[in-house]
Amino acid sequence: MPVKRAEKTPMPVRAPQVRAHDFGEVNEGYTVSQAAFEAERCLRCQDPVCVDGCPVNVPIPEFIHAVATGDMAAAAKLLRSSNPLPAICGRVCPQESQCEAECSMTLRFNPVAIGHLERYVADWERTQPPSVEANITRAEKIAVIGAGPSGLVCAGELARHGYPVTIYEALHAPGGVLRYGIPEFRLPKAILDWEIGLLKAMGVEIVCNVIIGKTLTLDDLFNKMGYAAVFIGTGAGLPQFLGISGENLNGVMSANEFLTRINLMRGYEFPEADTPVRVGKRVAVIGAGNTAMDAVRTSLRMGAEEAMIVYRRSDREMSARMEEYHHAIEEGVKFHWLTNPLEVIDDGTGWVAALKCQQMKLGEPDSSGRARPIPIEGSEFVIPVENVVLAIGTTPNPLLTRTTSGLLTNKKGCLVADERTGLTSKSLVFAGGDAVTGAATVILAAGAGKRAAHAIHDALTARG
Ligand code: FAD
Ligand code: SF4
Repeated sequence: MPVKRAEKTPMPVRAPQVRAHDFGEVNEGYTVSQAAFEAERCLRCQDPVCVDGCPVNVPIPEFIHAVATGDMAAAAKLLRSSNPLPAICGRVCPQESQCEAECSMTLRFNPVAIGHLERYVADWERTQPPSVEANITRAEKIAVIGAGPSGLVCAGELARHGYPVTIYEALHAPGGVLRYGIPEFRLPKAILDWEIGLLKAMGVEIVCNVIIGKTLTLDDLFNKMGYAAVFIGTGAGLPQFLGISGENLNGVMSANEFLTRINLMRGYEFPEADTPVRVGKRVAVIGAGNTAMDAVRTSLRMGAEEAMIVYRRSDREMSARMEEYHHAIEEGVKFHWLTNPLEVIDDGTGWVAALKCQQMKLGEPDSSGRARPIPIEGSEFVIPVENVVLAIGTTPNPLLTRTTSGLLTNKKGCLVADERTGLTSKSLVFAGGDAVTGAATVILAAGAGKRAAHAIHDALTARG
């Protein structure tokens, strides 16, 4: 008899039409009955393989069981015991390639929607009065550089251990990529602000507009300011460029600049906000990762009539989450697969007029394990566009390492740090997140921040 496939309760999604300036969240979240139904599907396996698939080992069957029995306070406590950013991870984690990919239900049915349940519990928690308070019991001060997920989580864990912690952030608002990169329609800023509010209530101090390596050096933190240990969570915010002709034209931007101008500087509210972002009728975004999907969907919300992805490989090799790809399709994004940009063409006044491209075919896998794109001779063509946004990867900014002696980096410019503790080549300096791994994910950054906090606590406790 054929196996009947159970349908995973889908996340309610708003109508796919995108209106200019509509940055509201796309997914509506589960209702009480949808969450209960989905929680009941969990088998509470004796060997919960889903937990192995989670980078921070959330006690998944236990928190889902608490949802099924209606004990939301217990569910929230269990979730937060291992994931300090559940409302954020419930929205942006690639569960389909982590916990849900491992779920035993996938052998015959769809996986339990662990990510949607995580979000449901975390959103419930936000409706409750916060239950944290400052409890500073240690004398040693700790400095954290960078207020992205790795730095925020590290600071929170250290505050839980009783340390006075100060986060130094280069930008004028904390959150890192969660604020300046991931758009409101995927991750509302109110959720980030709520999490940051909890940290402040725990006694964490956040000082913005301070660039370590420029305003102060890392050594100043020890020698002049008396910090006992430092955590570096500076991310990988330096965009890569293609090196093709016309890349300096007006209308060409890195995805980081494009998204930062809009998300952080409120470019969508120009002229009320000071930062203009000139988006024409047609926008080409180069690349096919999460950043590219965010940039292309943001282009539509900024008023572009046509927004397209240009990628030199096929959809099978793209690194974007499937969910984001589907949203982009629903919203009318166009896709030029197997298309390599060769030149950005000038309109004669210094602005972009078009993108000259070449058709590609796929060959044998290259060093990345993905099929190598090979140019097809004589296949050049031109796509008329007014903007080109580059989302082809980022690396760590070298500012901090150039101004700090004894801080080792690898060939890619990432900090060398112990995988288990985050200890760098410099005594009592720890690091984690994208600054160490290169561009990765929120949960990996959060996990690294948490491990480093415990290692800092161990090091300071051992010192006496
Ligand atoms: P960051 O988030 O980059 O934070 C670093 C912080 O350090 C920044 O605030 C920066 O201003 C500050 N800083 C840097 N240098 C200094 C200095 N010298 N002094 C003081 N402060 C400094 N991951 C997912 O899991 N799911 C997604 O859907 C997803 N979507 C993404 C979309 C976009 C557009 C981008 C760019 C990334 C996305 N990612 C996603 C990746 C994820 O956001 C990152 O892996 C994660 O934010 C890394 O965290 P971090 O703390 O290491 O660094
Ligand atoms: Fe539940 Fe799936 Fe985890 Fe089993 S593997 S405990 S069914 S979520």
